[in-house]
Amino acid sequence: MEQMVKELIKKLSENNISACYVKNRGEALEKVISMIPETSIVGFGDSLTLKQIGVVDRLEQGNYTFLNPWKPGISVEENIKLKKQSLTSDVFVTGTNALTLDGRIVNVDGHGNRVAAMLFGPSKVIIVVGINKIVENLEEALKKIRNKTAPLNVKQHPDLTPMPPCGITGVCNDCSSPWRICNKTVIIEREYNNNKYKPIITVIIVGEELGI
Ligand code: SF4
Repeated sequence: MEQMVKELIKKLSENNISACYVKNRGEALEKVISMIPETSIVGFGDSLTLKQIGVVDRLEQGNYTFLNPWKPGISVEENIKLKKQSLTSDVFVTGTNALTLDGRIVNVDGHGNRVAAMLFGPSKVIIVVGINKIVENLEEALKKIRNKTAPLNVKQHPDLTPMPPCGITGVCNDCSSPWRICNKTVIIEREYNNNKYKPIITVIIVGEELGI
């Protein structure tokens, strides 16, 4: 695994995406927090990985303006407002659906706020990814997202009513549900790195299974 991760970090770096490896969720938490200056405005792309490693709790409790559209009790209007504000945050923290061995970051969104903020707007984007999200290539990434990640994600959200069919069957049938979570597919292949624009994305690869 070490060799695979080393090569992946090299590939990402060739694509102007900085990346590092940490052994476990504790190290991942400290790494993320060390990259966010106090008093920052921090945007959040809903991520089980970030919840599992404790980033969400730390940001809620720390000296930050944490824009969390999924805070319990929040209204739909407030949810949309926070998603919009996240697009110009100082730091945007999120997970990813898949990372390919040739250094592509692959995501499929329902609403699109998460992928939008990963692309442009925030001054810094931090992506945390467990080793279980590393896949061979783009084809495998898309297959896994549709047939495993999305159905499991739907199952975790009983509030999506009517539930997309994969939440019941565990299989994608390319639905047209009003709550379809596979609407916007984004593949980040590379970042600018020139005399005008510098890369903003950092990928933290964690040597543990995280998220789905
Ligand atoms: S397209 Fe619909 S059925 Fe298929 S994974 Fe997405 S939400 Fe589920």
